[in-house]
Amino acid sequence: MNKTIIVSNRLPIELQFENEKMHIKSSVGGLATGLKSIHSDGNGIWVGWSGITEDELTPVQSQKVDEALDAHKCIRVPLTEYEIENYYHGFSNKALWPLFHYFQAYTEFELEQWDSYKMVNNKFAEIVIKHAEEGDTVWIHDYQLLLLPQLLREQRPDLTIGFFLHIPFPSFELFRTCPWRDELLYGVLGADLIGFHTYDYVRHFLSSTSRLAGLDVHFNEVNYGDRTVKVDFFPMGIDYDRYHSAAIEHAARPEEAKSQLRKSIEQHNSNNMESRLVLSIDRMDYTKGIPNRIKAFEYFLNKYPEFKGKVRLLMLAVPSREKVMQYQHLKRETDELVGRVNGQFATVNWTPIWYFYRSMQFDDLVDLYASSDVAMITPLRDGMNLVAKEYVATRIDGNGVLILSEMAGSAQEMHQALLVNPNNFEQLADSLKTALEMPEQEQAIRLAALQKGVSKHNVETWANAFINSLTEIKSQIAPVF
Ligand code: UDP
Repeated sequence: MNKTIIVSNRLPIELQFENEKMHIKSSVGGLATGLKSIHSDGNGIWVGWSGITEDELTPVQSQKVDEALDAHKCIRVPLTEYEIENYYHGFSNKALWPLFHYFQAYTEFELEQWDSYKMVNNKFAEIVIKHAEEGDTVWIHDYQLLLLPQLLREQRPDLTIGFFLHIPFPSFELFRTCPWRDELLYGVLGADLIGFHTYDYVRHFLSSTSRLAGLDVHFNEVNYGDRTVKVDFFPMGIDYDRYHSAAIEHAARPEEAKSQLRKSIEQHNSNNMESRLVLSIDRMDYTKGIPNRIKAFEYFLNKYPEFKGKVRLLMLAVPSREKVMQYQHLKRETDELVGRVNGQFATVNWTPIWYFYRSMQFDDLVDLYASSDVAMITPLRDGMNLVAKEYVATRIDGNGVLILSEMAGSAQEMHQALLVNPNNFEQLADSLKTALEMPEQEQAIRLAALQKGVSKHNVETWANAFINSLTEIKSQIAPVF
């Protein structure tokens, strides 16, 4: 029987060495959850980097890692520190990430990093080919592996290849600025099925395909040599039941079993009955619009001073890519802005912004979502944004308002949120007022519609839709002899 090989930059496994003892933990992230049944089906395997570079491993440790991964049906692609620096931190995160998120001024096109990107994509190809049997299906994930579909196609035309991009695909005008745009485009076109989060990203990709490669595009199919490549959108969802049932379970906990975080928030709210909590959660990334949000909150407090003392913005920013210069600048700017707003408005009884620069565990995240009257999610550009969906899933009492940037992929599905342009402070401030004053009944109507969509289109249905589409394509392709 044929199997499915999942390929992503990172394996869905966390590995750690403490002296000689190895700790291994399965990831509970969205992607791992969505692909669980596909991965565990038959002889399915997952190929990717383990998170530990070769330079860090002794030969004995290396063998231990292989054995442990084998038990989890995972195969690692060994990467050196140099490769992680150039392929991952370099080309992937300093060229592709900013370019695909419309931060053209941040892109660095370095030949050495590009060479490393090509080398590492070849390494992935070698390992996939080693483990692929005649007629297997390969599902490749994300922007670190744009060249892999074509590399596999050249050497193994018997494989059925799917590719999914988890970030936006930019408009042709942006994409064309990349010196290696043709290689990247033809790299992806090696797939039989190319998936994006939204219809807009599909359009952008098809437009680049016809304008750069001059290929025939019919609706959502590309005629490429003797093959047809299907391009479609599959909006990714979350593990709805996990968030929803955790929120129900947390709400039912007796006082002594509640988390410290939840107790503190509840304590604070009971001291000040009028107090309202606005939540924002993101990785500390320049695409997430964090400074804009703080400035808009400042503008809101000036425009609507009646809310002073009554609203708090709880902002969780998760450290990310801290070695990259732009991320260091962003951190500094955020610290200064929070300081400015708190310095300007705080009273002995009220701090307008509660700012956490750290990551939180699942249980604390659920408590944050469940305790917040409003979620304010305003990225400047975001492939999807799962935080918006997680907030909706935890609102078990039928209230809570979502303010969501129209630049997030999730805005294409979440029409009942208050959709905003994150650059428009006037609109952000007014939406925040609207959210805080929204009648309960309207909150309930909007939330019910959002919950219906998010629960129906969860991460499992996303993965199944992609695989079903790929299976259908496979059944239409004549076997290669
Ligand atoms: N998240 C987390 N720990 C935190 C804060 C967030 O694990 O302290 C998770 C959050 O629950 C969500 C993910 O990180 O599932 C962020 O996904 P999203 O699509 O919103 O943004 P990304 O970081 O992938 O750009």
